[in-house]
This record gives sequence, structure tokens and C-alpha cells, in this order.
Amino acid sequence: MKNAVVTGGGSGIGLAVAERLRSQGYHVATIDLRPSDEPSAEAADVADRSQVDAAMTKIRETLGPITILVNAAGVDGFKRFAKLDFAEWQKVIDVNLNGVFHCTQAVLPDMVDAGWGRIVNISSSSAHSGQPYMTHYVAAKSAVNGLTKALALELGPQGITVNAVPPGFIDTPMLRNAEGLKRLGGTVDDHIERTPVRRVGRPEDIAAACSFLISEEAGYITGQILGVNGGRNT
Ligand code: NAD
Repeated sequence: MKNAVVTGGGSGIGLAVAERLRSQGYHVATIDLRPSDEPSAEAADVADRSQVDAAMTKIRETLGPITILVNAAGVDGFKRFAKLDFAEWQKVIDVNLNGVFHCTQAVLPDMVDAGWGRIVNISSSSAHSGQPYMTHYVAAKSAVNGLTKALALELGPQGITVNAVPPGFIDTPMLRNAEGLKRLGGTVDDHIERTPVRRVGRPEDIAAACSFLISEEAGYITGQILGVNGGRNT
């Protein structure tokens, strides 16, 4: 019951989640377009079901059945809605939403067989408030929150919990890239001023929440959206 897969484990939040779970004794594999140097790091595109299935098969051969899944792979995008072409829209939906569909379906049989499972989806605080120029991203992340709630009701009787963690501003390559491109609506320091706890989030803050939600003692928590955002729901 201790085999975990973390998508997006090559960078930022996914990398921190994988490191945290390893340090707690879980057997961890990661899936990423650009895998880390850690053991059991598989290269795959979460938006491509055949790549996901192949990666999960390899991971099962090495670790055994997968009963914990953290869906952290994601891409952002910034463009005025009127200028967004459908391919750009679809790419962001494909990775952030359809990737969750593929990875979750691919591991679900293991959890059902075990009568136990933990799924944590990394959505985004932008799903609370919206974000201009990120309609595709906000739509995908809002849908991930909805999927989380619906799937929790479906899988509860089988011993599987499904929760979402929407991060606020977390200091990762994704955030710094957006800052560099001046697409954040201010610098990271400006955002710190507007955050009640007066600091930017760390990937480890998200890893801590994931660690709790996949623990045995969190078994009565499902279908929840646990914001980790320094008190700022935007
Ligand atoms: P990041 O860019 O550092 O890491 C994202 C990882 O996902 C990268 O390693 C990338 O290679 C991988 N990835 C992207 N597309 C993929 C694909 N198609 N298949 C497999 N892997 C793919 O970003 P991060 O900040 O660590 O983001 C992690 C998650 O947290 C994302 O879902 C993101 O939307 C979400 N999030 C981040 C923030 C933030 O402030 N950093 C805020 C809200 C939500």
C-alpha cells in the first residue's frame, strides 16, 4: 500500500512531493516530460494515454501495484481569450485536465483491487477567483476540482479518497517564468505584499499537504479542496 506515482515529478511541486514521500518511506515513481535523476523517473506525456499506460506498466513491474497518485503535471498559458486559438486552448486542457483523467484511470484498477487508494490533484487557487488571460488554465483547473468532488463520491465505498490541493503562488520554475514574462500581474514581491502570511509559498508547503492527504489518518477526508495559499484565495 506504499507505492506512489507523482506526475510532474521532474520539477517544482511534483519534485518536492516525490522527495517528501520518499523521505517518509514510500516507494515513489515519477512521470514527467523531463524526468528527474531520481530512481523510477519515467518520461511520458500525461496527455497521451498510450505513454501513460506504458509508464504505469513499467512502474508496476518495478514497484508493484500503485495505490497512491499525486497529479501535479501541469502547464500554464497567458493570452487574451479573443486571441486564443483552439490548439492553445486544447493543449492546456489536455495536460491539466485530460492528463488527470488518463493517469487516474490508468492506476485505478490497482486501488480497487487493494480496496485502498489515495488520489491528490494539484489544481490552482485561480479556480476560486479566475485570472485574466488564463481562461484555458482556469477552466482546466476548475474542472479538476469538479472531477475531484465527483470521483470522491464514486470511489469512497471502495476505500479510495480523492482530494485536491489548489496552490497559491508557489516559488517554482513555472511561477518565476511567468514573473520573467511579466505575466503575473506584478512581481512575486508584489504578491507577497497581498498575501496574509507575507511570503511566497514553497513547493514543500504543497508537499506537506499532499503527505497528510495520502496518510492513513486522512481516510475520513475526501472530495475536499484544500487551499494552500498563505490565506489568499486567488
Ligand atoms: P513546474 O513547471 O515547475 O513543474 C511542472 C512539471 O510538469 C514540469 O516538470 C513539466 O515538465 C511537467 N509537465 C508539463 N507538461 C507535462 C506533460 N504533458 N506530461 C508530463 N509532465 C508534464 O510547475 P509547478 O509550479 O511545480 O506546477 C506543478 C502544478 O502546480 C501544476 O499543475 C501547476 O498548474 C500547479 N500550480 C502551480 C502554482 C505555482 O504558483 N507554482 C500555482 C497553482 C497551481
